[in-house]
Amino acid sequence: MYDMADLSREIAYALRHAPWEYELEMDEDGWVPIQQLLDALHRDKRWITVSEKDLHNMIEQSEKKRYEIKSKMIRAFYGHSIPMKIVKEAKMPPDTLYHGTARRFLESIKEKGLIPQSRQYVHLSQDIETAESVGLRHDNKPCILKINSKKAWEEGIRFYYGNEKVWLADEIPYKYVEEWNGYPVPRHLEGILQVDSKKSNNFNIEGKLHCRCGCEKFRIRTFSEQDKNGCLHVSEYQNGYSLMIKAECCNCNDRYLIFDMAEHGYNGFVCHDGITVSDNELKGYGCNKCNGQSFEIEIGIEVEDREQFIEEVVEEEPDKYVPEDYVDAFDWICISIKCSECGQVINDWVDFETS
Ligand SMILES: [Zn+2]
Ligand SMILES: [Zn+2]
Repeated sequence: MYDMADLSREIAYALRHAPWEYELEMDEDGWVPIQQLLDALHRDKRWITVSEKDLHNMIEQSEKKRYEIKSKMIRAFYGHSIPMKIVKEAKMPPDTLYHGTARRFLESIKEKGLIPQSRQYVHLSQDIETAESVGLRHDNKPCILKINSKKAWEEGIRFYYGNEKVWLADEIPYKYVEEWNGYPVPRHLEGILQVDSKKSNNFNIEGKLHCRCGCEKFRIRTFSEQDKNGCLHVSEYQNGYSLMIKAECCNCNDRYLIFDMAEHGYNGFVCHDGITVSDNELKGYGCNKCNGQSFEIEIGIEVEDREQFIEEVVEEEPDKYVPEDYVDAFDWICISIKCSECGQVINDWVDFETS
């Protein structure tokens, strides 16, 4: 026997607030097939045996009439607008779409592709967050699948615009699907580069540097040539070259290595071009306008194709590299800084191709 108040809260969330998380195909009057709602609930351990009868009981027992049921459909009484009804407009999709699911469904997806099951359509999203919140309904470590929707569309798969969060398709054969491994954040920036998902994808990430203490302002120390605009370039060092940047949190003084051409990027990580400079040879960087010493730092990174990295590097030296290393062998890094004192922004403060 379920706690009807709990069940009612869950259904309110599903119907009124986040139907996309449950992959509900809500029509323009807010109706959803009961079977679809039950199916979505059954994927959650807590509601694994909820039945249509329970829904009727829930409605009867509640003092306030929150839901209505009519010929195998259910809807909430909405205050004003219906959230994210599905419009189903046949349309060319964005190049890439995402789908969140549970690890336990992967085997069958590999075999059959993405199929609608109890729904009319396969549900996809334009952003990774939505796919993630859908996946989290089924699994605490969901799988995010990336759909090559451009190619699928060109080869005749039909897509429909659902609403701002949801794209639909009849089905997606597995050849257009790949597992999304997360943003390719180089390991040394993990946990400190806060990726901006709107500007980032599999190959490009953009984000802002955050200290683990939460502070966004850093003092900077570098080994580099500096031009008249304050931009940094590779500098001669001993019998070779160096370009090195460290950031020190203005709040807690934690230090982070941001870039070392001897270690990072394709040439650094794979070929070991460049020479690492010791800490005491780094120089403090000051704003070229106000000599301020505190900066906000934004970083853009472009990585090489993972498969190509595996083919060219991992397969050549399997004892030395693993496929996951591709994030450290990035092709290009671009850093912008903003002076916290005068507000001057230097775009392309560092703009360095690393391969
Ligand atoms: Zn800090
Ligand atoms: Zn300044």
